[in-house]
Parts: sequence; C-alpha cells; structure tokens
Amino acid sequence: MEKVFVSGGSGYIALHCIKQLIEQGYLVKTSLRSLNKVDNLLNCLSRHVDCTGKIEFCELNLLNDEGWSESIKGCDYVLHVASPVIPGRAEVDELVKPALGGLQRCLKAAVENKVKRFVMTSSFAAIYGNGKSEFNDDDWTDLTNEKLFPYEISKTKAELFLWEHINSLDKSERIEVCAINPVLVVGPSLSDSVSISNRIAIKKLLTGSIPFNPKISISLVDVKDVALAHIRAMKEKNAAGKRFLLSEKTIWCSDISNILYDNGFKKVPRYTAPNWLIKFLSIFISSLRMAVEKLGKKEVLHTNNVRNILKLNLKGVDQAIVSSAKQLHDLKLV
Ligand code: NAP
Repeated sequence: MEKVFVSGGSGYIALHCIKQLIEQGYLVKTSLRSLNKVDNLLNCLSRHVDCTGKIEFCELNLLNDEGWSESIKGCDYVLHVASPVIPGRAEVDELVKPALGGLQRCLKAAVENKVKRFVMTSSFAAIYGNGKSEFNDDDWTDLTNEKLFPYEISKTKAELFLWEHINSLDKSERIEVCAINPVLVVGPSLSDSVSISNRIAIKKLLTGSIPFNPKISISLVDVKDVALAHIRAMKEKNAAGKRFLLSEKTIWCSDISNILYDNGFKKVPRYTAPNWLIKFLSIFISSLRMAVEKLGKKEVLHTNNVRNILKLNLKGVDQAIVSSAKQLHDLKLV
C-alpha cells in the first residue's frame, strides 16, 4: 500500500484529504504540532471513515527543523497542507515565517527522501494580488504591491520558493512537484472546529452581523473537491510541474445569502447596499475596508488545468454552503 505524508492533520482541508486518502486505500502519516491532539482527531475522523491501522502521527512544527526528514522517510507522496490562515491584518512574520519556513523544511525533506510527488496547498492568494480582475493558472501575486496582506505575502513567497528551489536542483535530485491554488473553501469541517473560510463566507451572514450584502463577488469551492484535487494532482501523470487554480464559481455575496435564505436561514441580509454606503461605512468599520476595492467588480477565473488535466467537474458548492450553515447551527455557533 502506498503511504502519503500530510502535514497539519488537525487542519480543515488536511482532514478532508486524509479521509479521502484512506477511502481510496492509502496509508497516511500526518504531522501535528502536538501529539496531544491525536485522540480527539481519531475520534472525529472515525465518525467518517474506518481509520484503524491506516493512519500514524508524528510531531512537527513548521518553525522547527527537527524531525522532518525522519518523518517523511518511507512515504511515497507528500501533501504539504499546513500553513497558518489569518486573513486581514496580522504581523507579517507571524504568517511568513511558518508558511515559508514550513514549505522549505517539508520540501527539503521530501527531496532527501526522493518522494514520487510533492503537492503544495498554495492559494488563490498567490495569484490574485496583481491589480487584475481576470485570472488563470499562470497568474502571480505581485510582491511589490503595497496593498498586500500578510497572508497573501506568505502564500506567494512559499509557492515561489517551491518552484525556484525545484528548478535550482540538479536533475538527478529533482522530484515532481505541483501546487493547488484554491479560492475560498466552504463545506463542513470533519472536526468540531469551523474553518476561518466558513466563518468569513457563511457565519457572518447567518448571524445577521452584516445587515446588508456588499456588492462584492466571491469565488468559492467545496472542500471535498479541494481534497479530491490534491489526490488527483498527486497521481495524475500530467499534473507534475503545474499549478491548479481551483474554483467552482464566482458569485455575488447576495447569491450566498439567497442560497441560505432559501434553505431556511432567514436571518441573512436581504438587501444589497449601494457602493457609496459601503465606502462611507468603511471609514468607521475596518473589516469593510477589504471589501471596498472589490465593490461592483465580478472577478473572472479560468480554471483550465483543473478541467483539462485533473478532469474535475466541480458542482457541489451550493450544497456545501448549506451544509456548512447547518454545521454552524448544530455547533450553536450561530
Ligand atoms: P486550518 O484549518 O487553519 O489549518 C492550518 C493547519 O496549519 C493546521 O493544521 C495548523 O495546526 C497548521 N499550522 C499552523 N501553524 C503551524 C506551525 N507553526 N507548525 C505546525 N503546523 C502549523 O486551515 P485550512 O483552511 O485547512 O488551510 C490549509 C491550507 O490551505 C493552508 O495552506 C491554506 O493557506 C490553504 N488554503 C486555504 C483556503 C481556505 O479557504 N480554507 C483557501 C486557499 C488555500 P494547528 O491545528 O496546530 O493550529
């Protein structure tokens, strides 16, 4: 049986990858910052898949050199998923150090152990920060753009390192790598911890804490499709050396509210605010400042590699939005 190393097994996307890997017959080794989380994690995972004898754990920190190479030894593939997700304002180092340092440590260990393929979970954040409104697999965030948030910098620097480092190696040392660049990921968590992306896209609308829909577009993808894309990218021959912008669709904020309203979540905003009102309110409400730049513009995404190479036909995101809302409700978070 082939064995896959997944970094950050406690994370929202990583746990979905682990579930699907086990369902597809792989053995999994996953890293955690602390092994104290193992029991809770096994409890959550075994509600969804029989993982007896299929998963092992190791303790690794993205900020620490210790243990990476020994942990990856014996694994056929690596999915490097772990990286801190803190949108908006934060200390640059709080994000860049673990994102870049973690990628460096994991990639070097994968190269040392000559794994068959290294799949990095990058992000749309490494693509969109360049002033454009239309994007494809080959676009890059411009690190000289002064408006970037630390998260965007962290994902761009880490993915740039991936490609630069691999290309700098002698051909005899090189391993196959690829990057998955998902937009905002929605859908229920397999643990009781709700991801930041679901909090941003869904929780804020459900609680009525945003009384109106700003006229902004959001690109979304179902977490199950994100996990499937990782596994296809790991195995598909032609995926090596490619980036995969991963999005199902781009919709207005009001479309998300409508989906939720039609499924019984009646507190969501029913009214789309005029752009001038959002601009005015952003003077007082800092969380609205991020929205101002996107007002009225619908971004256009071309996901050619996902369709042509991974052969994925994405279609679950409306259901994922509703299922996330139900989970937030069941966990009494809304
Ligand atoms: P998440 O649930 O917050 O998972 C992040 C993972 O990184 C956790 O396992 C966390 O461990 C781990 N981590 C953070 N700092 C660490 C450190 N210093 N040492 C070891 N582990 C550390 O977030 P997610 O949404 O699943 O995101 C996973 C990946 O997908 C990230 O690379 C993110 O950039 C990317 N992504 C996410 C989205 C999205 O919408 N969710 C979109 C595009 C890309 P702890 O549990 O110990 O904190």
